[in-house]
Amino acid sequence: MAHELPKLPYEMTALEPHISRKTLEYHHGKHHQTYVTNLNNLLKDHPTYATLSLEEVIQRSFGEKNTSIFNNAAQVWNHTFYWHCMRPNGGGQPGGDLLALIHRDFGTYEAFREAFTQAALTQFGSGWAWLVLKDGKLSIMKTGNADLPMVHGAKALLTIDVWEHAYYIDYHNLRAQYINIFLDHLVNWDFVGSNMA
Ligand code: MN
Repeated sequence: MAHELPKLPYEMTALEPHISRKTLEYHHGKHHQTYVTNLNNLLKDHPTYATLSLEEVIQRSFGEKNTSIFNNAAQVWNHTFYWHCMRPNGGGQPGGDLLALIHRDFGTYEAFREAFTQAALTQFGSGWAWLVLKDGKLSIMKTGNADLPMVHGAKALLTIDVWEHAYYIDYHNLRAQYINIFLDHLVNWDFVGSNMA
């Protein structure tokens, strides 16, 4: 099946002033689109992948060490997930059950925030930082390039894209500033909570 670029779950200007229309136009319209186009082109030569879902393509290409297919398929998935991790007027502390779980597994919201920030800051080069559910507990992961929790036995709950293309137009080299803005103004905790189900 042909994989498609999903629409953004909000308008191109919805995350301003924190993430600009220009960033979303490039990040969604160019970068994410290119991963979709590359994946579909690669799959033309791999008919056994043709009927698989995106998640199945990711798992099979990881198992078969088909790096090109894995990288593009995982980046399609990662970006779709990342868009949903943000919303206008998001960020700050979550409420209810999620906050209780953060307290249980990190001690305080501030401790979670510090661990997530450190993972995002210290991912050398391109990659992602994640809040995941693993072995029944919340924990923090970071992954390089296209790598993602589902191939490491963890369920993704929240991610931040720390490839430079995610923040360079708005924050230039200041990754730390982008991470703070993401946590304080953009996180869609309703989406994070829905991933617990
Ligand atoms: Mn990206």
